[in-house]
Amino acid sequence: MKAAGDRLAFLQEMGGGFVLRRGKKPPQVSFPELKEKVLSCCLCPLASLRTRAVPGEGDKGAELMFVGEAPGRDEDAQGRPFVGRAGQLLTKIIEAMKWRREEVYITNVVKCRPPDNRTPLPGEVEKCSPYLVRQIELIRPKVIVTLGKVATDFFIPGRKSMGERRGKFVDHQGIRIMPTFHPSYVIRNEGNKEIKKMVWRDMKLVMEFLGKK
Ligand code: URA
Repeated sequence: MKAAGDRLAFLQEMGGGFVLRRGKKPPQVSFPELKEKVLSCCLCPLASLRTRAVPGEGDKGAELMFVGEAPGRDEDAQGRPFVGRAGQLLTKIIEAMKWRREEVYITNVVKCRPPDNRTPLPGEVEKCSPYLVRQIELIRPKVIVTLGKVATDFFIPGRKSMGERRGKFVDHQGIRIMPTFHPSYVIRNEGNKEIKKMVWRDMKLVMEFLGKK
């Protein structure tokens, strides 16, 4: 009998991927319809706590996508992803990579803010996942950078730490996933220059893969 992790790896290899793992097929809707669905979503208790849902923003034909965990206070207030302190750092990273923020697509695994910015619960991730799956189906990016553990676990579930997982591309249904540290983690460990350097090394691999000079 294979262990659960092995079975999952097998299913992913066979092309099952997150659609199969999450069980539910994403809604076969266009981008504007998807946005409306997210904005009016009531599938989990986070809906009753939010100011605004945060579907995501950027170029819908982007070759590069960034996926974070969930909106924080600023994002909840503005209805836009990564606009607070972590967002300012993410924008700097994107610009250092020689893209403009509008040229990539930025979203989160969970589209509503969890109370006190706690980590989203597995049930919240589960309910919200068809939205992200559909966004990926519509955009078909070449690379997805997963910011932190929640986003990385979404594509590559496992027990390994971010330190072990970052910096290596993993193929996911023809899309390259690049796990890296979450900008909030970089900010929390501002004194540790090594973390910043690691993120930059990861982003250089993305630039190289996408032919960005
Ligand atoms: N952190 C996230 O993971 N996402 C945001 O949109 C903002 C902060």
